[in-house]
Amino acid sequence: MATLSAGNVDGGALNAGPLNAGATGAGGRVPDIARARRLVIKIGSALLVDGGGLRTGWLHALCDDVADWRRRGADVIVVSSGSIALGRRVLDLRPGPLTLEQAQAAAAVGQIRLARAYEEMLAPHGVTTGQVLVTLEDSQNRRRYLNSRATMETLLALGVVPIVNENDTVATDEIRFGDNDRLAAQIAVTCGADQLLLLSDVDGLYTANPKTDPDARHIALVDHITPEIEAMGGNPVSGLSKGGMKTKLMAARTAVAGGCAMAIAEGSVLRPLSAVAGGARVTWFLPEGDPQAARKRWIAAMKPRGELVVDAGAARALADGRSLLPAGVRSVAGSFGRGDPVLILDEDGTTLAQGIARYDAADSRRIAGLRSDEIGAVLGYDPRAALVHRDDMAVGR
Ligand code: GLU
Repeated sequence: MATLSAGNVDGGALNAGPLNAGATGAGGRVPDIARARRLVIKIGSALLVDGGGLRTGWLHALCDDVADWRRRGADVIVVSSGSIALGRRVLDLRPGPLTLEQAQAAAAVGQIRLARAYEEMLAPHGVTTGQVLVTLEDSQNRRRYLNSRATMETLLALGVVPIVNENDTVATDEIRFGDNDRLAAQIAVTCGADQLLLLSDVDGLYTANPKTDPDARHIALVDHITPEIEAMGGNPVSGLSKGGMKTKLMAARTAVAGGCAMAIAEGSVLRPLSAVAGGARVTWFLPEGDPQAARKRWIAAMKPRGELVVDAGAARALADGRSLLPAGVRSVAGSFGRGDPVLILDEDGTTLAQGIARYDAADSRRIAGLRSDEIGAVLGYDPRAALVHRDDMAVGR
């Protein structure tokens, strides 16, 4: 395992910095965190909490970085662990494993302090924070998925930095992510982020455990997660955090498949984002396509639950990249819920697109053919303008 052949590197399976001096340049393919458009930062418990409680000096410096990235125009989402680690100190719970109930109680006590700390440290920069607590169900149930996506989108549009964690006080074992690495990847893909940074106690992926194997080599760039890369996942697990390298690789798989680049970086330095921007050693996992394209592939691959036949005007609008408004819909077939995929056809039966319906089948039938200003009266609630929004549509199937 310690010696990877040059052929392996050239073959594109991976580019390991120490094996290939040119790899860090990688033909300009290494993502530049300074240019992230929408950045998700995952912060592990061990960085935030130690024997003395919250590491406020470190958190202050991190918040300086977050504020910097906001000033550069990047959307920033912080996925922060630490509620349980902090809460158990406040409650003085004995070292060692906690029962689920104790962990949930600790999370309740820790989370409120954690959120307040972010709020207090970002406010002086003029940055507003919002707390978002999610469970696995929010990403598995389509309606909740759409709602949480819309909420995040609105928060970001308002310039807010969402501080996200798992809702540990209500999430029982069956409905838990359990680790924030995978949660962060899910959030990154859901929100169409282009970069995800996992701040950890290691500076990336190694061919073997660097603490025990002197031959272990650091890998700077992974452009495909091969079985060989997966096999490197059995590496260090720190005392506080849930995720080891294995969950980071699972996170990487989710992120890159969703079009998001992911980096694993050593987070304990002050201002770790600046450190990464300044060339600190990390492992980057390259995305498979851009997030929007990945999302459209995902939409196109789903099994449609219904069909919308649209008139010629709507067909032209779709071809121009615009949303499908109820006015252009001639007929609705199938029984689908809000958030389900539907096929969009022209009046000759030619498939034009597939997209996510923003209304269920019954409401779609009621508003088909109506102008946007007529919809509210029919539905009895304030309408969402599009029946299928252009962001939720793969055209030209
Ligand atoms: N949600 C947990 C917490 O905030 C952390 C999970 C993890 O360490 O990945 O304490």
